[in-house]
Amino acid sequence: MRELFDLQSFYRDFAKAADQGGFRGEVLLEMEDGPLMAWEKVGNGPVVYLSAGMHGDEPAGPLAALEMMERGVFDDNRHWLICPVMNPGGLALHTRENREGKDLNRDYLKMETLEVAAHIRWLDRRPVPDLFVSLHEDWESTGFYFYEINCGNDRPEVAEAIFSATSVVMPVEPEVFIDGHEVREAGWIFHCPDADVPDHWPEAIYLAKKGCPLSFTFETPSSADLVDRTRVQMLAFQELLKKVVP
Ligand SMILES: [Zn+2]
Repeated sequence: MRELFDLQSFYRDFAKAADQGGFRGEVLLEMEDGPLMAWEKVGNGPVVYLSAGMHGDEPAGPLAALEMMERGVFDDNRHWLICPVMNPGGLALHTRENREGKDLNRDYLKMETLEVAAHIRWLDRRPVPDLFVSLHEDWESTGFYFYEINCGNDRPEVAEAIFSATSVVMPVEPEVFIDGHEVREAGWIFHCPDADVPDHWPEAIYLAKKGCPLSFTFETPSSADLVDRTRVQMLAFQELLKKVVP
């Protein structure tokens, strides 16, 4: 089923909520389908960077970012960096890739796409995040899973806490191999800070190389109900915050 995503109304709602939440929005790149935008709220606490909408056929992430903005999840105790729609063209077309057919999440070494180049220009002028979270979806899985890249302390109880929060809504992905990775525990890919394909860095590898010590990539199954997927993204994110940047 094709899930419609109205970029214009999304941005209107997001900008309104972000404004009320004390965020400042910035246009990183003007595009045919709408701008690539970033929002920031400077705070004294840990720097948390959230990205969503990198793949245009994965709407749960942007919707979760919007709902959390409306609910005031992005409080005054942390320094927030938020990019809710990394791929405006893909969201408008409902395609994984951008309008030029490029997978943005493989372009973080070469930075050949306008979107990634503009995004990096913005990100590199910001403090290195203490925590990076990216919201994605998967067409092949049946349950929720995530990637963790951890260059600091190994805390297995964090993964456990996330799954106990999400499993009230959605099962944990049962496959032992997910996208070519053997899981550490069910639904949990403990990834090294290197790209699977050397020249095709995803955003999470860029962040790790930049010195961000901890990153999580959440993946909800596209076959599940969109409301549940959005809810699971929010539950996982909020549980993670509680555990690692309280
Ligand atoms: Zn994705």
